[in-house]
Amino acid sequence: MNVCQTSNTWRRPEVTCVYKLLFEVKREDQSQVGLRSAHAHNTRTSCPQTAAAEGSENSGSNFQVFASNFPPRQTTKGQCLAPRFTSDSCFHFLEKTEASIMAAAAPSAKASLREDLTCAICCDLFREPVMLACMHHFCRHCISRYWRGAQGPVTCPQCRKEFSSKQFQTNYLVAAMVEKVRATTSDTFVKSLEKQLKETLESHRLRKEEFINSIHRDKEKMNIIKRVGADLQARVKGDFRALHQILHDEETSMLEQLRREEEEEMQKVQRHLEAAELAVRDLEDNLKALQQASAATEDIVLTELPQLRPCVQVDIAPEFDINAFSNKYMAPLQYITWRKMFKSLKPGPSPLTFDVDTAHPSIHVSRDKTLAVECGVMSQHLNHSKRFTQCVNILATQGFQSGRHYWEVDVGYNPKWDLGVASEAVDRHARIKLSPESGYWTLRLRNGNEYSAGTQPWTRLQLGSFPQRIGVFLDCDERKVSFYNADDMSLLYSFTSVLRGKVFPFFSPCINDRGHKPQPLKLLCYPPVALSG
Ligand SMILES: [Zn+2]
Ligand SMILES: [Zn+2]
Repeated sequence: MNVCQTSNTWRRPEVTCVYKLLFEVKREDQSQVGLRSAHAHNTRTSCPQTAAAEGSENSGSNFQVFASNFPPRQTTKGQCLAPRFTSDSCFHFLEKTEASIMAAAAPSAKASLREDLTCAICCDLFREPVMLACMHHFCRHCISRYWRGAQGPVTCPQCRKEFSSKQFQTNYLVAAMVEKVRATTSDTFVKSLEKQLKETLESHRLRKEEFINSIHRDKEKMNIIKRVGADLQARVKGDFRALHQILHDEETSMLEQLRREEEEEMQKVQRHLEAAELAVRDLEDNLKALQQASAATEDIVLTELPQLRPCVQVDIAPEFDINAFSNKYMAPLQYITWRKMFKSLKPGPSPLTFDVDTAHPSIHVSRDKTLAVECGVMSQHLNHSKRFTQCVNILATQGFQSGRHYWEVDVGYNPKWDLGVASEAVDRHARIKLSPESGYWTLRLRNGNEYSAGTQPWTRLQLGSFPQRIGVFLDCDERKVSFYNADDMSLLYSFTSVLRGKVFPFFSPCINDRGHKPQPLKLLCYPPVALSG
């Protein structure tokens, strides 16, 4: 043993480990400590620290409720009574113990649990814990060795209770608890826990930071959406207000015209009516005078006719041509108005024409400059610095550098074409890939069904239909070019960040496949028939 006793005193402070629960925790009664110490000395079998010796063990089979290594209660007679636990309280204790282990309880609680599971003989955690009939626990090896070296009756080294034989019970529950405490209090385990704790803390901190950043980003996005939405609403309202104004003006003008014409017709009839009424009154006066003269002829000889009013001349009743009056307003008003609206649209369709001076020599342009076709035969054009000499391209005459402009191109059933806008500064004498970087913002078709935006590399577009008319919308102020299927005005693609400076509508009918009929590109101008007024 590593602790020895001489006389009535403990030589080593480790005694607090051995009987700390018996003596030190209940230090209030020093006389009892002395009494028990003396008792231990006198019997020479009750103190494991003085009587460590060889001994034999008996395997016991009696089962008693686990009482732990809690301090036994001291009776007034100096007897040591271990607390008796019921099964329920035992499980309750185990649950608490388990919870305290798994939750990595406060160091003091853990230390207390460790003390409870410490063998009073070797002052270390139990190894193969066994329980005596008094319900005190010791390591199997410790109690066996204690009994082998003890003289006299078999006793519990902790409470001195005497037993008839060397019996103990293996306590698997305590054994399991000890293993858990041993595992959870090892340096490696603690360090690993601390590391885990740090890592978990850091990962939680990082995740929280990420979420906070994400919240900020979401809020910022919501603000942007609100701002852009408000701008767009204002824009849509503005455009419709302009349309409403056009319609309202048209309606007012037409109703005013109708009211004027109606009044004119009414006045014509009114004048005739009044003249006829006046004529009737004059004739009635004359009739009266004539009747009086006729009655007087019985008495006197009539020498002259009575004085009569001159007869009023009334014009022929004006003709009212109901068809002429109503036809004007029975016309397809909505269509007429819609056609008139083209003149007021902003941007209205730009009446473009091809600039022959820019055309590649193999492109032929119609006389009215609205058709361009590649026919494989090089024309004898005048040399012009504006002309495309390498690529089969052509520009429109009209260039833009401010405002908003819209035009439409009839691409028909051409299996390939390019169109869009080109910077005025593009190199017209080199073979250049069409892309915004080289000054072209284009849409293209290849093989009859492969639509792409002219980015580098090309951006393939999946269109649900094969538009025969392409609308191009250029917003110089917003630096955007958008392409539409002009049949239903669905958006096909948009370029942003178009270079500032003058740009021109750009077209390429591409090189016609030999053996196929050349297909022209046609500039559309609305309304097809100009309305006067
Ligand atoms: Zn032990
Ligand atoms: Zn005992």
